[in-house]
Amino acid sequence: TLRSMFEQTVAKYPEKEGLVDVRLGKRWTYREWDEEVNCLANTLKDAGVGKGDKVSTVLFNTAEFATTLFACMKIGAVFNPINFRLTAKEISFILQDAQPKIVVFEKATHPQVEQAAGEVKSVQFWSIDQHDLDFAVNYEAQMEGASRERPDCELDENDLYAIMYTSGTTGLPKGVLHTHRDMIDQALIMGTVMQVTDKERGLSVGPMFHCAELHCAFFPRVMMGGANIIMHHFETKSVIRTVKEEAITSFFAAPTMWNMMLQEDLAEADFSALNKGLYGGAPMAPALVKKLHDTLGIRLFEAYGMTEMGPAITVLTEDEQIDKAGSAGRPLLNHEVRVVRTREDGPADPADICEPGELGEIIVQGPSMMPGYYNRPEATEEVMYKGWYHSGDIGSFDEDGYLWVSDRVKDMIISGGENIYSREVEDVLFDHSQVMDTAVIGEPDEMWGERVVAYIVKKDDSLTEKELDEFCTANERLARYKRPRRYEFVDELPRNASGKLQKFKLREELMKEV
Ligand code: AMP
Ligand code: MG
Repeated sequence: TLRSMFEQTVAKYPEKEGLVDVRLGKRWTYREWDEEVNCLANTLKDAGVGKGDKVSTVLFNTAEFATTLFACMKIGAVFNPINFRLTAKEISFILQDAQPKIVVFEKATHPQVEQAAGEVKSVQFWSIDQHDLDFAVNYEAQMEGASRERPDCELDENDLYAIMYTSGTTGLPKGVLHTHRDMIDQALIMGTVMQVTDKERGLSVGPMFHCAELHCAFFPRVMMGGANIIMHHFETKSVIRTVKEEAITSFFAAPTMWNMMLQEDLAEADFSALNKGLYGGAPMAPALVKKLHDTLGIRLFEAYGMTEMGPAITVLTEDEQIDKAGSAGRPLLNHEVRVVRTREDGPADPADICEPGELGEIIVQGPSMMPGYYNRPEATEEVMYKGWYHSGDIGSFDEDGYLWVSDRVKDMIISGGENIYSREVEDVLFDHSQVMDTAVIGEPDEMWGERVVAYIVKKDDSLTEKELDEFCTANERLARYKRPRRYEFVDELPRNASGKLQKFKLREELMKEV
């Protein structure tokens, strides 16, 4: 179980630095961290949380997040980390679905949480930094006087460890279940690929409520006994400073975070201790991958996957970054990934495998596959057709066995009967030196069904529509039908906390204009 994984690390490295909260300027050895975890576990137990009960968090990256996570495991409670960027309505939806006993939150998420609190019954709200709230009690005050001894609780590897609600770039969020065993497998595999050791000083700056940070970076590090340096949220200048001050050796960041770092003046930066960087969760354009590689000179890894799968299913390793820039890499150990032909009238058949280079739906089997969605048997059955998780991503394998992710099925644009994959157009636009960020979507067109629209965040004000159109046309970068018919210049693009484009928001805006 993850609990025994944590306790083994504590036993092995009691006096080693385990946890650092940069915002608080506080440090814990593994032994001190474990005592804190036990203390919270006993407090939760006294508050009526039993095995299988849920505990939710609406926290940024904080020491309390890391402590609540392991405290849940100590008593067999199910951890439910909620995205701190969600609205009151979305939080309330999740609380009604998951029915937690306790919700831990902080000042920065207080307004949404308080509003959501009005809509749920028999849930306790614990604030980590406020004392004077009507609807909540103080977390630390609750812990006063609680035992720091390890609580007893029988736990099996197949017991649930967490419910994680999918980011909801489409439709209503669904609760993805994961067991302890799932996460041990994911952590072992990611730890091996990334060669994580006890010398690691990892920065958690990607959102910890999301499995990319938590399962691909944080758990492997705890498993090996590395130090976990936690930053409340992403802010480029403080990240660059912390990497230097804390001698950070590795971290995960979403592609847009890496992109933002590349825009900074890096003269004062010191990346000498940093030996690996992980990116993923959303596509990164080849032009950016190359720039990142050349600018930082660190070992880069890309992970591709989805919450339902633990998440990582493929990795692009260090040696492959340049030759295969833009690819999602090859399947991880014990994972089977296929690209299969889609059908109009139902889920794709796992046996109908595409040829190399042929686009289809990406489907997966692997040891960290979710047992299902919480309370959603039909949705589970639909995505698990014939035992394969159907990702809803379109992609292809090349001759060398590398996976290329083209688009979400739902984001694909169909113009004049031709399929256009937004990723291909975005990758070309990213190659233009004055493009900072871009999103490509389809808008209704009477003649062609849909036409391509490109949203652009400029680096330089002088960039024009004409220049971009010439750029797409030059050197046959894009076939005529794929070229954007219209450009919209914007200050920023709607992205969720894990850096994924929320194209539905752009579409909503377009619809309003019509
Ligand atoms: P989530 O469950 O929130 O992690 O979202 C999963 C989705 O993110 C996948 O189905 C992909 O569409 C996208 N995604 C994750 N990692 C990558 C990547 N490395 N390249 C392209 N898309 C990605
Ligand atoms: Mg499993």
